[in-house]
Parts: sequence; structure tokens; C-alpha cells
Amino acid sequence: MEQTDKEKIASLERSLFYESQYKSAIISEAICHYEANLSKDFIENEIFYKSEQGTIVSTTKLLGMSAPCKFSDFIKNWINKAIDPDYASKYEIFSNTKDFLLKSYSEGKRDHIIEYWYTNEKGKEFFLNQRFLLTKNEDGDICALAVLNNTTHAKKIEAQQHRNELERHAYFDPITGGYNYIKFKKELISANVRGSIISIDIHAFKLINTTFGTGIGDKVIKAIWDRIEEVFDFPKGDFAAHINADNFIAFCPTEDQNEIITKIKSISYSLNLISAELSLPQVKLYYGISMWCPEKTIDLSYSEAVTAKNNAKKLQDADYAFFEKKDMDRLVWEENIIENFENALAQNEFHVWYQPKYNPENREIIGAEALVRWIKDGKIFVSPGEFIPLFENNGLIRSFDQYIFRKVCMQQKKWQSEGRKIIPVSGNLPRISLYYKDETSIYSHIAESAEIEKKYVPIEITETAAVKDKRFKEITDAFVSAGFILHMDDFGSGYSSLSALNSIRFSAWKLDKSLIDSIGNYSGERLLHHIILLAKELGIQVTAEGVETAEQNNFLSETGCESIQGYYYSKPVDISNFEKLMI
Ligand code: C2E
Ligand code: MG
Ligand code: MG
Repeated sequence: MEQTDKEKIASLERSLFYESQYKSAIISEAICHYEANLSKDFIENEIFYKSEQGTIVSTTKLLGMSAPCKFSDFIKNWINKAIDPDYASKYEIFSNTKDFLLKSYSEGKRDHIIEYWYTNEKGKEFFLNQRFLLTKNEDGDICALAVLNNTTHAKKIEAQQHRNELERHAYFDPITGGYNYIKFKKELISANVRGSIISIDIHAFKLINTTFGTGIGDKVIKAIWDRIEEVFDFPKGDFAAHINADNFIAFCPTEDQNEIITKIKSISYSLNLISAELSLPQVKLYYGISMWCPEKTIDLSYSEAVTAKNNAKKLQDADYAFFEKKDMDRLVWEENIIENFENALAQNEFHVWYQPKYNPENREIIGAEALVRWIKDGKIFVSPGEFIPLFENNGLIRSFDQYIFRKVCMQQKKWQSEGRKIIPVSGNLPRISLYYKDETSIYSHIAESAEIEKKYVPIEITETAAVKDKRFKEITDAFVSAGFILHMDDFGSGYSSLSALNSIRFSAWKLDKSLIDSIGNYSGERLLHHIILLAKELGIQVTAEGVETAEQNNFLSETGCESIQGYYYSKPVDISNFEKLMI
């Protein structure tokens, strides 16, 4: 019995479609089924096509052709009528198809998907896709059952999805789903309006991450982002982005400080909800604000906002600060110091000064601390308390301290060879050095090349939370094994636990000035009394730092402190004055 048109279509679909193919066919604009005799180069049987709406039409009628007709003419005609009225025969995108299929058949391949692509004279792009199943008919001719799809529409959707995906990666933050910094900048540049840039970070975020895990850390970031989204009015021209870790940035097209403060307060106000929801200790944010105008780079404004935020961290009564002119001057000044560093080294502008340590019982000098001074044109250019932290931040400190340590060793050697009495002169070791395995051998090498015994050049290490760090113990042990004597500097100002301190082999504790300043008040004195007692029990020597008055000196002497360093006896002095003190 003759098959109806519908039945023919259905059987072709059954034989030709895979599920994925079918899906792409559904969204295509037109789909055509045909049977071609490739050996004789014509289209056999009645031909049909199914439009997007599912209507089945006889192609031969549509084309005004009748089967059998030439394979390539049919395809050209069909594209021209059903897909692209501007399709010109010169494109000839199917010219090789027949030969290709015949060759494939001879190689035993029976199933092919071929994709075609062209741009017509009007610049429109087209994508076509043909699936062929190859067989031989009773006469021995090679035939193809074929489905031709117009996949242009599907390709466009795919390309758009691809573009969206790329955009998502390039412009959106995976944790918050909101903008990243690149997108923030893009939006702000196109907004082109003056306003305020706000830098926001989470207080002690590292602690949240290490204590509760990064999963909770990410939740905190998301929760804070949700608050930012609520408080900043995006439709009214505010923007915000998660930059990285716990850093956020926001922009408001206003220079009104009160408006900004209101927004900040509104975010901070709801932070305890986040703490409660995630069972965390109180989450706290810091904010720094700078002004932005289109003439200024966003990076510069952001770094100003970060500077302001760092200032806010030092405030007692507020969690925000605005970038001010004095901050700007400070930045310029800091840059100037760093730029001057190399030159200062070359010009020998760094001098070692000495602050003696006295035995309060007999007022004899029993040691000294080497303290650096930057001297320019005969004057102290800037005090170490100011430039040392800068050098610590940019990594210059390590080689700088090795340079100072070398100077100290060489001076000790010089005094020794001149037949003078020498006393231990301690040098300060920056915290960062404790993370370099080779630091011990570098310091050993410096002392050994100067031919000075290590006991004459003790090393001061500041008390910090790092005392608990395993590496800290390893490197301090290495220093002790190499023969160095370690002093814990600024004892009582850090956060270290006594048990952690005890595990490190310090020979001396240098009591911080803040402890000494509590002399005169009962509990302060009791504390000092017990610290000194404890040190004695442990066989650790005690030096009191920053002793300025006779009252302090007498109390310490009576309490058994054997070493005192402070203005009461002497300020740090240069070499020649130190030599005079030593006579
Ligand atoms: P530090 O190691 O705790 O040094 C003691 C500081 O207290 C010195 O300040 C000293 O001059 C000061 N000082 C001593 N006695 C008194 C006193 O009675 N009253 C007051 N108000 N201050 C007193 P300086 O020389 O300004 O050094 C400050 C800090 O800079 C030092 O604190 C040390 O941490 C660092 N520093 C100094 N020189 C170097 C160095 O060559 N390398 C490194 N890494 N740090 C250094
Ligand atoms: Mg020191
Ligand atoms: Mg100190």
C-alpha cells in the first residue's frame, strides 16, 4: 500500500533522528527530508519539508520542480525558497557533498553529519546541517536518506549562550553572583558621574576562615553582599562589587558624606543578624571612603579608600573614615622614603646608634641595643619607628637588617681589635626573616666573617602571635643551635601565651615600656613583680625597656631586674658618644 505523506515523514524521522538532533530541528526554521540517488545524481520520490510550525508541504510543489531532479539544483533551490532568499548559487556550499558521500560510502562509512556555513551578500550568517544515511538500492545505486536542517537560529542561541557564559566569568563574582571589580570599573566609566567610592572589609576575616572553615567564610561574604545590595540603590546609580577575599567596593553618585554615613550605618546595624544566623561571633566591617570623578583613575580612588579604611581601623569610636588631604601627603611622603632608600644606602646615610643597658645595682653598662638612624645633612631624617614598618611592608627590611647586623658585627670587631672592652650589642630581627630557612646561615656567616663571637651579637625578636607558629619555633631553634642568644623584644605587648613563649629558647625578655609605665599603680607593680619572679625561675634574664624615672629604676632594681635600658640612663647615642660612655 502506498505510504501517505505523513507516514513517510514519520518513518524518516524515526530512522534519522537522535534525540539531540531532534531538539535542534525543533528550534530550526525549516527542516527538509529527501531521498537522493547519489550515483545518478538526482532526487527521488516525492519530497517534503516540515516548517517550524510543523506544517508539511510538498517541496517539489513549493519549488515548482518535479522529481526526479538534479541533487545540487534541488538543494540550491530549496535553500533559496525556504531559508535564504539571498542565497546565490555562487556560494556552492554543497558542490562537494555528493562526491564526498560517494567516497565515504566506498570507505564503508554509512552515517554522516555535515555542517555548512556561509555569509550571504547582505552579510547575514547561515548555518545548515545535513544528516545522511547511506545505502544501496536494488539497482546498486548509492542512495542517501537525508535531513537538512536550518540551524542558524539554534547556533545564534548557542553563540549568545556562549557569550553570556564568557561574560559571566569575566564580569561576575562566583561567590556573590554580583559584579566583580572589572565590571564595576566598566559600569563606573560608562556612568561617568562624580561620587564616592567606598572600600569595605570584614574585620578578622582570616580568623573566621581558619576557625569556621572557608564554607562559612563564603557564606559570610554572601550575607554581607546581600546587605550591600539592599542598602545601595542599584537602580538609582549605585554600584558595588566583591573584589576578592573579604574586600568589597561600592560607588554612590553623591559627595554628601551624611548620605554615605547613613548607608554605612544601615549595613553595620544588621550585622548581628548575620552573626546569629551563622552562629558566629560578632561580624564587624570597616569602611573607607574617597571621592571619584571621571578625571581620576578608579584604581587611585580605590587605593585612597583603602588607606582611609586602614585609618578607620585605628579609630576607637567609628568604623569608617574619609580619605583626607593629610592621608594624601602621607602617601606621597611614604613613596618618597621608599624611593630614597637605595640612594641612602649608597650614601651611607644609615647609622647605627647605641642605647646602653645598665645594671641598676652598680650602674655599669652590661650591654647595648643597636638602633638604626637615618641621617641626612647631619640631621635625623626620619625615625626608625616610621620607616621600619614601611620597609617591613615592602620586603626591604630583610636585606636592610642584614646590612645593619653586618655593621654591628664589624664595629664590635673593630673595638675588640683596638683592645677595648666589648659588651653584647643586640640587633633587631624583623618578623619576616623568621619565615626564611636560610636566615640562620646568613646571620652566622655575617658574624663569622667579621670574626665576632655570636654571644656578643644577640638577636631581638618581637613578641607576636607568630610565636605559636611552628616555623617560628624551628627557625628560633636553628638560631640557638648556631650559637646565637635570643632576646624577646617588647615582652607584654603581643598576644603570645606563656606556654608558647616557654617553648622557645629565649635567654632574655625585654619588658615593654607599657609594662614599665604601670609602675606606681598597685596591680601594674604586682604584675611586674611576678613576671620578673617567673623569669628568674625559668633562668631567663630580664631587661626593662623605656625606663625614664628614678622611681621606675628603683622599683625594678628592688624587684630583681638586672638590666635597664631607657632615657633615665641614656638615650640612644652615636658611636663616638657611646665610646665615651664605655670609658
Ligand atoms: P625597639 O627595638 O623596642 O627599641 C626600643 C625603642 O624604644 C627605641 O626607639 C628606643 O629609642 C626607645 N626607647 C628606649 N628607651 C626609651 C625611653 O626611656 N623612653 C622612650 N619614650 N623611648 C625609649 P627607636 O630607636 O625609635 O626604635 C623604634 C623601633 O624601631 C625599635 O623598637 C625597633 O622595633 C625598630 N628598630 C630600630 N632600629 C631597627 C633596626 O635596625 N632594625 C629593625 N628591624 N628594627 C629597628
Ligand atoms: Mg629592640
Ligand atoms: Mg622594644
